[in-house]
Amino acid sequence: MLQVKNISFSYKKQAVLNNISFNVKAGEHVSIIGESGSGKSTLLKLLYGTYDLHKGHIFWNNSEILGPKHNLIIGPEFMKYVAQEFDLMPFITVAENIGAFLSNFYPEEKQARINELLDVVELKPFAKTKVKELSGGQKQRVALARAIAKQPEIILLDEPFSHIDNFKKQSLRRSLFKYLKEKNITCIVATHDKDDVLSYSDNMIVLHDAKIMANTTPQELYNNPENKLIASFFGEFNEINSKIIYANQLKPVDRSDLKAIVKQSYYKGSFYLIEADLNGENVFFEHDVQLKKGKTVFLYQV
Ligand code: ADP
Ligand code: MG
Repeated sequence: MLQVKNISFSYKKQAVLNNISFNVKAGEHVSIIGESGSGKSTLLKLLYGTYDLHKGHIFWNNSEILGPKHNLIIGPEFMKYVAQEFDLMPFITVAENIGAFLSNFYPEEKQARINELLDVVELKPFAKTKVKELSGGQKQRVALARAIAKQPEIILLDEPFSHIDNFKKQSLRRSLFKYLKEKNITCIVATHDKDDVLSYSDNMIVLHDAKIMANTTPQELYNNPENKLIASFFGEFNEINSKIIYANQLKPVDRSDLKAIVKQSYYKGSFYLIEADLNGENVFFEHDVQLKKGKTVFLYQV
């Protein structure tokens, strides 16, 4: 189990993290979310032992994770960290990068392992390509494969799919997270993408104002968003009579107390997002057809 106990940290005067605590069980998948600048990357770096804590302790099972004051080499053996800026060796091939930290003692096993990893990150056709010739997204996939090569007990991923295009993102996400679960590798992901979280995370931690605003299951947070910051992570929403209502929970009906005038329809593929005026405030709801500007609708919360 990972135990984070009352840790505080700041780069300058202002605290980036102020006395935060949480636990992650072995094999769990936890997402860290929060606005840009809320300290997600800093938290991952602290978990990896990149900086000395100003206060508090971090333990993985019985070993304490200590910063550079106490360690010559940053990052414990059992942990891997994939930074937002991944550092690879540009002049050697994808396969060589992935195998860089694997033992050469059993060459056949090593090759088999590299092939397995190339499959997980869907890079088989690029095995012999030099890393410097890859796109940003392909490099990110090499970095992910290299991080799981030696089967860490815990992996820290900072926005792991940020450079990967939508065509590849869905399948890579499924493949990587399935692999980590199967191998019981504890996984902590900093992200701002709800699709990284909803289907995969056991828990999600919301960072705000140097504190943990929430730490619970995605289902619980989605169903009971305590505030606008949390609701906005999941999608378009409205605040009606101080209640948060997602756009997909509002439907037009024949008559209701909520009378709105359509302003704009946005095509979203499987539905239209309709923007309307409700007593001078913008309201959003989902609908299966486009609606004309100026049309009167009555809305009902389903
Ligand atoms: P996030 O990953 O959530 O966007 P970060 O952890 O990168 O947030 O940053 C948290 C805060 O710490 C921000 O205000 C950022 O400007 C500041 N910060 C991050 N890295 C450094 C650094 N190396 N030196 C000084 N300030 C930093
Ligand atoms: Mg970051």
